[in-house]
This record gives sequence, structure tokens and C-alpha cells, in this order.
Amino acid sequence: MYTVTQLIGGVWGAGGEAGELTVHDPADGRPVTSAPVATADEVDKAVAAARGVASEWAATSPAERAATLHRIADAVTAAADDLAQATTAEMGKPLADARGGVEAGIATLRQYAELAPARGGRTLHGDPAAIDFMTPQPHGVVAVITPWNDPVAVSCGLLGAALVTGNVVLHKPSERTPATGWLLARAFDTALPAGVLSLLSGGPTTGAALAAAEVDMVAHVGSSATGRAIATAAAGTGAKVLLENGGSDPLIVDADVDPSWAAGEAALGAFANAGQICVAVERIYAHRDVAEDFVAALVERAAALRVGPGRDPQTQLGPLVDRRHRDQVHGQVIAAVADGARLRVGGTLPEGPGAFYPATVIDHCRHDLALIREETFGPVAPVVVVDSFSEALRCAADSPYGLAATVLTGSMSHAQRAWRELPVGTVKVNSVFGGAPAGAAHPRRASGQGFGYGPELLDEFTATKAVHIQAPGGGHW
Ligand code: NAD
Repeated sequence: MYTVTQLIGGVWGAGGEAGELTVHDPADGRPVTSAPVATADEVDKAVAAARGVASEWAATSPAERAATLHRIADAVTAAADDLAQATTAEMGKPLADARGGVEAGIATLRQYAELAPARGGRTLHGDPAAIDFMTPQPHGVVAVITPWNDPVAVSCGLLGAALVTGNVVLHKPSERTPATGWLLARAFDTALPAGVLSLLSGGPTTGAALAAAEVDMVAHVGSSATGRAIATAAAGTGAKVLLENGGSDPLIVDADVDPSWAAGEAALGAFANAGQICVAVERIYAHRDVAEDFVAALVERAAALRVGPGRDPQTQLGPLVDRRHRDQVHGQVIAAVADGARLRVGGTLPEGPGAFYPATVIDHCRHDLALIREETFGPVAPVVVVDSFSEALRCAADSPYGLAATVLTGSMSHAQRAWRELPVGTVKVNSVFGGAPAGAAHPRRASGQGFGYGPELLDEFTATKAVHIQAPGGGHW
């Protein structure tokens, strides 16, 4: 069992007066982690302590901070097995996926260590006797609030970019993966000066206290409802907000594609990490010409997935993160069926311990079902049949979210229409995942604001200052 401690003002073991939370293994319900819950007072003390070391860290050279980030990446590499095991124990994903998340996190740390010192500002050309330039500076004290679904990869990106640009950071990992966050903070802390990184643990109440505290920036990856609450809280302090939030990503299956291949892409997009990926396939618009064969092939793939605990190397579909989340997923499925949709496979609560939920395919869906419009975040593939590519595009675009979309088509003109017309941050053609390294996009609408990834994330963590230097008395230097 993991016993998490907080890191406040460079001191491990501080605080936790608001009590304790316990995380249970979603595969079998056994307790795996106990973590303290930070009070609002502890949050304020942590912010004040961070403020005390902010200017010293900001004054270090970019090259020095980059070298520190490489040492952090070394420490995370040394802790990679422990981090992957903690992730699987706390949120259930297959161990190989958890390990992949750690590797992705390490790669991001190295990337930011290389990119950050190469950044610069612009020089300006005004009065020849003056010196004019623009230069990026750290915001100061940054709160980073992260989710559970890919805890190491997401946290490494935000923490790495914030630290290497000269900010001091208060990290609050998800209450569903506190041990993973704690192990990561321990690795980071081996390479950082005391006080530059703080770790606060707790749930929404602790997160809300942090979002409302006197910080300079709040970076949140998580649900859209939380993102909205954070934006409201930060409006009260003037802190900058960076939000990478939920999605309800469409998959369009065009009339000219091989239905069996399309089913493979759909299964990957909808069932990987038990559907608990921000860019998971959440709704499918299949052209009538291929819909029947496509759904039949998708049902076969769903039924063939090997379900089991994430620690079993044979497992393809692990449990959901917990039973509370499983109830939400199942509730959406039941409501859709009550509203006329047809269950083709899955959709039942299994007997036994844990938070398992079967890969589920539902057809005869209408575009206005909550299952289609809301983010489900479970292994559920709902299919709406459409009569034309234009109808598919119209439905795909009609969403409160705007994270990403995938189009399966053999038509270049359809592919071109898709990337031009869909109001989302990322468009993928003929592949549900993938994409070049260092890609970054602006999520739209309820999916967030700002760049959460790529080199552009370094810009998000800095504020640009314009400087004009003139010699006294209007002369020359
Ligand atoms: P969540 O928003 O419930 O929790 C994320 C973090 O926010 C946690 O640390 C939580 O304690 C904290 N929090 C909760 N309420 C808060 C409040 N009122 N004020 C401040 N902090 C608060 O999200 P989750 O369930 O952990 O994660 C799943 C969600 O994250 C999904 O919607 C998924 O799409 C999204 N996600 C998005 C991306 C992306 O890049 N767009 C990546 C991963 C996950």
C-alpha cells in the first residue's frame, strides 16, 4: 500500500489536516493508496512558500534549468517501473499502456529540455539610438491540476514546460492517482532546488482552493465542468488560465471504405484505455452503404477483447477507474437504450469485484441522444447511420466540444472538406491515433483554451515583455 505525503515549501510530510483519502484498485477493490487531503489553509501556505523562491528560480539561466530537466528525466526513467505499476494499481489501465505513458512523459521532458534554451524574443527596430526587444519571462507561481487517465504523460508535459521556463509549480494530481503523482514528485524533487515544486494532494475541494489562491497561472487538464469552475475562480484573482478539457470526438465512416478495416480503427479509438482517453472515439457516423457490415465487424472486435486486470500482460481491456465512473458510463448506455437505441454487444454490469465494463456497441442511435452529445469516457461505441458525407460532417460539427475528429475516407476532396470545416483542434484522416511528435492544437469551445502540448506550451508558460531602452537626455549610449 502506498502512503502519500505532501511536499510543501521544500518539506516532505507537511499538512493533511483535512483528513485522508483512500484509493482502491479498480480491478479487485483492494485498498492501494492512502493520501492526505490538503486544507485551504495549507494551500495558501504552499503558495506563499512557493512565492518566496520564485524570483530565485526565475533568475537561473535557461541552460541551467534545461540541465535540471534532463536530470529530472533521468530520475523519472529510474522510477519508470514503479510509476507504471502505481498507475495500473490506481486507475486500472494495462501495464504496457501505463509504461507507454511514462515513456511519453520522459520523451516530453527531454524535448522541453532541448527546446527551452533555444527560445528567444524578437529584436525591434525603432529609434536607432534606442534598444528595443521583446523577451519571454516566467509567469511566477503556477498551479498545475491534472487528471487520472494518463497521469504521468500529462503531468510531465505541464510540469516540465512550467519549470523549464522558470516558473515555480504547485502540483495537485488527481485524487484517483495520488501515489502516481507522489512518485513523480519524488523523482522531480531529486533534481530541483527546495521549494521549486510543491505537491498537494486531495480532491475537488483542494483543487478549488488552489484555483482560487493567489497564483499567477492555473493549468488544468480534466473535465470541462471543472475547467469552467477553474476559469470562474481564476477570474477573481486575475490568474491566467490554460484549459485542456473534455471531448466527444466523432468518427466518420465514409461510403467508400472497407468496413472491416474501419471497424478496426473504431475499436481502437473507442476501446483503448477502456475509452478513457480525451481523444477517444465517442460517437460514430457511418454511411448507410457500409453501416451494416461495419457494425457487424465492430461487434466482433468488441466481443474478442480480452478483459482482465491491468497487471495481467494478456489484458486488452482493463477496468474503468472506479465504480462511481462505471455507474455514469452505464447510466448513459441505459438511457440511450431506453430512448430507442439498440444494444449489439456489452452494455451489462458484470458480476464480481472491481469496476469492469464490457466493450459495448450500440446502433440505431439518434444524433440527439445524451450518449452522443456528452462525453462518455468509457468503452462504448454508439453508431448513427447517415445518408451522405455532408450529413456526417454536419452532425460531427454539431457538438458543445471541439477537441478532435477522425474521418475514414478514400476521397481526397472529403478529407479536405473535413479538415477545413470541422470546428475542432485536431483532424485525423484514416487513423484514429498517431500524428507527428510535437503537434499542438487549440481545443475549441468546451474542450478548453490554449496550447496544452508541443513547443507552444512553452509560450503558454511565459509572458512576453517589451523593452525600450533610450540613453538619458535623448543622446546616444
Ligand atoms: P476532473 O476535472 O474531474 O479532475 C481533474 C483534476 O481537477 C483533478 O486533480 C481534480 O481533483 C481537480 N478538480 C476537480 N474539481 C475541481 C475544482 N472545482 N476546482 C479545481 N480543481 C478541481 O477530470 P478527471 O475526471 O480527472 O479527468 C477526465 C477528464 O479529463 C475527461 O473529461 C477527459 O476528456 C479530460 N482530459 C483531457 C485531456 C486533454 O488534453 N484535453 C487530457 C486528459 C484528460
